[in-house]
Amino acid sequence: MPPADRQPVERFAPSPTGRLHLGHALSAILAHDAARAAGGRFLLRIEDLDAGRAREAFVAGIEADLAWLGLRWETPVLRQSARGAAYAAALARLDALGLLYPCVCTRAEIAAAAPQEGADETVYPGLCRGRDVSGAGRPAALRLAMDRAIDRLGGPDAIRALTFEECGAGPGGETGRMALDPEALIAQIGDVALGRKDGAASYHLAVVVDDAHQGVTCATRGEDLFASTPLHRLLQALLGLPTPRYRHHRLIRDAAGRRLAKRDDARALATLRAEGATPEDVRRLVGL
Ligand code: GLU
Repeated sequence: MPPADRQPVERFAPSPTGRLHLGHALSAILAHDAARAAGGRFLLRIEDLDAGRAREAFVAGIEADLAWLGLRWETPVLRQSARGAAYAAALARLDALGLLYPCVCTRAEIAAAAPQEGADETVYPGLCRGRDVSGAGRPAALRLAMDRAIDRLGGPDAIRALTFEECGAGPGGETGRMALDPEALIAQIGDVALGRKDGAASYHLAVVVDDAHQGVTCATRGEDLFASTPLHRLLQALLGLPTPRYRHHRLIRDAAGRRLAKRDDARALATLRAEGATPEDVRRLVGL
């Protein structure tokens, strides 16, 4: 918990893999306005870990869209592509605790062995657990041994005592203090990859390390990430990092009820802007 007298630090953390759409606008405006209302700081963080998909043109587009919305953020802007050493140190710490193992499985192998859908992706079926993969001649991801992580923190009862504060609302309207559920961590999240085969950190590791590094007191994001927040809380506990509050917000859907994706250019802020929409129109369209 951040001390009550601490200056609020809010952030918007987009991945530059497409143009911003209305869902991003909602995240950014909520975080920005909360910072301004509380005399706090508003940070922009560029989550460009995926070198294959991140594009410099999208970074410029994000900044242009946010400025057009009337938002102002602090500079310099933190980029995850420059934070490799911090992520490597966090991975080394987890490894020293005996909580990581290398995994050489392909997506197809995982899908074939694990029909079980988890919170966010297929739950890894543990194929490389306890297996010597050093001679596999394939790049390895680094996975968290979830049962060992739970033991390390004192077992299931200690996990249930770990909480985070939801000051927005989860997909089921969840709000207030949320406790972790050790069974759900195993069944829904499982042995997630924290280090990717290309050597980069996974989103889950990077977001936890960077929110702490930047002193973020409240993390604003779409409710699709609510299911991953217990994992983030667990990683904070393992790495001895502070826990921000979380403000999850509803997803903005298209006319057919589908959540917006970066490929939906029709709902891109740039498109709305070109069609003559104003920042006030955008606030109205996202229900603010
Ligand atoms: N970079 C993530 C995205 O673009 C958001 C991560 C977060 O806010 O925690 O969806």
